[in-house]
Amino acid sequence: MKTLKDRILRDGRCFPGGILKVDNFINHQMDPILMKSIGVEFVRRFASTQINKVITVEASGIAPAIMVGYLLELPVVFAKKKKPSTMENMLATSVFSFTKQRTYDVCVSRDFLCPGDKVLFIDDFLANGNAAKGIIELVKQAGAELVGMGFIIEKAFQHGGDELRAAGIHVESLAIIESLDNCEIKIR
Ligand code: 5GP
Repeated sequence: MKTLKDRILRDGRCFPGGILKVDNFINHQMDPILMKSIGVEFVRRFASTQINKVITVEASGIAPAIMVGYLLELPVVFAKKKKPSTMENMLATSVFSFTKQRTYDVCVSRDFLCPGDKVLFIDDFLANGNAAKGIIELVKQAGAELVGMGFIIEKAFQHGGDELRAAGIHVESLAIIESLDNCEIKIR
């Protein structure tokens, strides 16, 4: 997606350890016009897929997920990163975050992720694929079906995408970063 790639090259910043900061338009300040185009592109790429629900993880996945849900007129569920004491009927698993270097819980209510649901997962970044694997686990626990996974940015050098595709999952990434070596952004 050319507009996204141009924006990453213009406003993205590299940090040590292979971190790309896109706080200017995705992760802190958000660009709703770009986010709408991202939603349109996800809808185009998953057009042949039967979906009845969009799922994401709080917080940065919510903006692109809600764009997709709005365009497809489907509900959007976000997995929470803290177990609310009031949540009943909960599905939960743990995920290792490489940006924060710690493990956190992700959970979702069985009321909103149900047997027979055909879900599309949308998130901001795909790196090692740990968040994605957490969602795969929650979908499995719910008895739902994962029909695809869409990411705004995939960091190919961390290989989460290779694993997901090798597992037969339909993965779409709108910008694929080949390398952030020497703090230079190289996009496929
Ligand atoms: P994974 O679980 O695939 O290793 O990492 C994906 C999650 O970590 C994303 O949901 C995102 O929040 C965060 N993340 C991974 N790499 C980056 C990065 O380079 N920049 C930013 N801003 N977030 C990242």
